[in-house]
Parts: sequence; C-alpha cells; structure tokens
Amino acid sequence: MEMKCPRCVQKIHRAADACPHCGFTLADAEACFAGVGLHLRCLADTAGLLRRGERERVEAAMERFTRRFPQLFVAIFTGTLADAAELRQLGFWLLNRASFEELPPNQPNAAGILITLDAASKTAAMTFGYLLDPFLEETDTFDCLWRAHSRWLEGRYADGMVKAIEQLAIVLRKRSRQARRNPAGFERKLLPPAHGKTPQRHAETAKAITPNPAQPPP
Ligand SMILES: [Zn+2]
Repeated sequence: MEMKCPRCVQKIHRAADACPHCGFTLADAEACFAGVGLHLRCLADTAGLLRRGERERVEAAMERFTRRFPQLFVAIFTGTLADAAELRQLGFWLLNRASFEELPPNQPNAAGILITLDAASKTAAMTFGYLLDPFLEETDTFDCLWRAHSRWLEGRYADGMVKAIEQLAIVLRKRSRQARRNPAGFERKLLPPAHGKTPQRHAETAKAITPNPAQPPP
C-alpha cells in the first residue's frame, strides 16, 4: 500500500513512520497545525467560502454519497493556507487525527475521503484513507478535482464541491464494478509488503464498498 508523501510527493509506504525521502512525519504535521481544531463537522468551511443556503446543498450531496456507499464518507475542509504542500499535509493530518461530528463512533477515518480547499490560492487536494487504496488512483482524485476546479475559479464553491463528490461516486461505482468482474486483479493490488495491513481485511473492503443497489446512479 503506497501513498505519496504529503510534503515531497514521492511514493512512500502507508505504514512508514517517516518519509524516507524528506523525513516528513505525522509529528511535523502536528507541530504545523497545532492551532487547527480536531473536532470537525464533515463540512468544515473555516474559510467562509459558502454562501447562505449553499451549505445545505453540499451536505445533501455528502449524504447522497454515503447512501450510495454506506461504508464510506466524504469530508470537506476549507482554510487559508500557505501553499499546495501545506494543503496536502493538512489533509493528511486531518484524515489521520480529526474526529468528524456527524459520523457514527465506529466509522474509521480510513474509510474517508477528505477534500481540502485553500481559499487564497483556490487550490484543492483530495486525501483518502487506506481502505480506499484498492479503489482510487491519483488520476481518479485528480479527475474529481479537475471537474470542480473551473467552478472554484469562478467562486462557485458549492457547485464545485457537489461536482467533485458526484464525480467521486461515478469513479467508485466504476471501480467496484471492475472489482466484481475481476476480483483477482484487485486482490493483487492488495498484497501487503513487509509490515502492511492484512490482505483479508482489504479483501473484505473490496466487497464492502459495493454500491447500495437501492440508490439510483449519479
Ligand atoms: Zn517526503
């Protein structure tokens, strides 16, 4: 299970304590974001980008997503940050450490997808927990953000957030169909190197994110 280091963007193992390339650790993020509260709503618009009535529309999109994928959740954090590296590190930090108010207590952050949006640079990042590793690639998260980006550039923040969430649902629906057709291909991706998580746990996840058939396609 690989991820990109949120600081230097080189590939590192999920279970690494520190990035072997730049030395980044969770403790660095902790020092950097000591002032950011860790008890958050799933939609934490700390930069105040959403206008009256828009918050409900974004929250409704988040709820639709969770009805389609009952094991997963989407969270959004807006803030004012220094640069894209800080945005990625914040996403990584929050998804590791924050507790999200609306989630049931047994919902792990590893099943979450967090969109962080910087008000100053209008840059966005998407961080996802390791339970999503078999299903999401960087091109997928880029695709979701890219479709939202023109709306964000125009200041249509809610529209962009809804678009990103809807695109994420489309991607996950496609990936879960592929996993059902070719479970072996997905299991190969799940084999853990050295001290990774057990493959059984991930194989269960492969079944677990099968979309809820009662929900209409997005
Ligand atoms: Zn690094």
